[in-house]
Amino acid sequence: MTFDPLSIRSSFPILNQMAHGHSLAYLDNAATTQKPLCVLDAIQDYYRNTNANVHRGAHFLSVRATNQFEGARDTIARFINAPTQSHVIWTKGTTEAINMVTYGLEHLLEKNDEILITSLEHHANLVPWQQLASRTGAVLRILPLEANGQWKAECESYFTQKTRIFAATQVSNAIGVSTPLQTMLSLAKEQGAMTLVDGAQVVAHYPVDVETLDCDFYVFSGHKMYGPTGIGVLYGKIPALEALTPYQTGGEMVRKVSYQATEFNDLPYRLEAGTPNIEGAIGLAAACNFLTEQDRPALLAWEQSLATYTYKRLKSEKSIILYSPETNTTLVSLSVSNIHTMDLNAYLDSQGIGVRSGSHCAQPLMTELGIEGTLRASFACYNTIEEANRFCDVLIEAIDILGDE
Ligand code: PMP
Repeated sequence: MTFDPLSIRSSFPILNQMAHGHSLAYLDNAATTQKPLCVLDAIQDYYRNTNANVHRGAHFLSVRATNQFEGARDTIARFINAPTQSHVIWTKGTTEAINMVTYGLEHLLEKNDEILITSLEHHANLVPWQQLASRTGAVLRILPLEANGQWKAECESYFTQKTRIFAATQVSNAIGVSTPLQTMLSLAKEQGAMTLVDGAQVVAHYPVDVETLDCDFYVFSGHKMYGPTGIGVLYGKIPALEALTPYQTGGEMVRKVSYQATEFNDLPYRLEAGTPNIEGAIGLAAACNFLTEQDRPALLAWEQSLATYTYKRLKSEKSIILYSPETNTTLVSLSVSNIHTMDLNAYLDSQGIGVRSGSHCAQPLMTELGIEGTLRASFACYNTIEEANRFCDVLIEAIDILGDE
């Protein structure tokens, strides 16, 4: 592998620190990634030199802020191959984007219409649909994918004339598998359903092309792709975005207001009430530029090689059960017989290794797997083979110590 994570690491000074007396190994990237200097600089530069409210271009700084903010929208559109910037709606993150869609489509749903999601969803792509179903009398159905993401023969029968909406994750945050997205999207479209793809676990690793995917909505969070927290994106096809009732109303999203009525603005502003997260948008655009400047196939190959290497080292350990696939993933998700993942997590933390344990906001999936949760080590471009080895060594040490207790 020619990719050198050490050169990229210099852009992430946060990684050069000690944790509990050990050098920090940050392996919780599926929860949130660290931010490169270019993102930190873009945010600081905005506040040092530009800060003003946008879209009220009455003065020098306001025009500059608006240009940067709308320029950021253009950058996102290019990053995901959206045709124009009107397709890009700023949100707080994936969760808010999905809530915007579930709220916005409510007027189109009738009793007994079906909403279909997969059995691998994060709660963010489950609870809002469940709530929508209970508000409208629609039925929430769960497409029973195999836990390894594979298609079961019976899956096809879940796509029917009654399916009005189909929502699916592209990659599972809990167990790292990719879903058979294209197959599912074509079946949903054959039935005339609207489609939403949760790309939260995709954007940092895989190139996204919404035109090729041809879904109605695509959602993701900035903080999982080296950008800031509090900013995310709802991409939509124009008719799909126009079908949404605005989730929030107020300033910015209006064209004309009287005491009797309000005329809403055009897209994308129609769905963005109030002063937006300006520095978040600018920071996210810097994160897109950071990624675009990298050799992305090499980055992905590196991250996947770390996950595969870790998997291979751990698969011979008798007490370890692995839930993530051996290849084509950027994380390792596991449990250990008779040791609680929280205890393993605490031991790893005491040695400076940051991972995550628990249900990963996917409780129904954990129930299906018959476990409470998993321990997850998730890799980003700046992780090293030494960190992967440390994770394996310390985990095996923890199993030795805790297993004897
Ligand atoms: N979907 C997936 C697949 C995720 O991994 C996450 C974050 N863990 C979310 C949705 C929710 O993202 P956020 O909390 O940034 O809104």
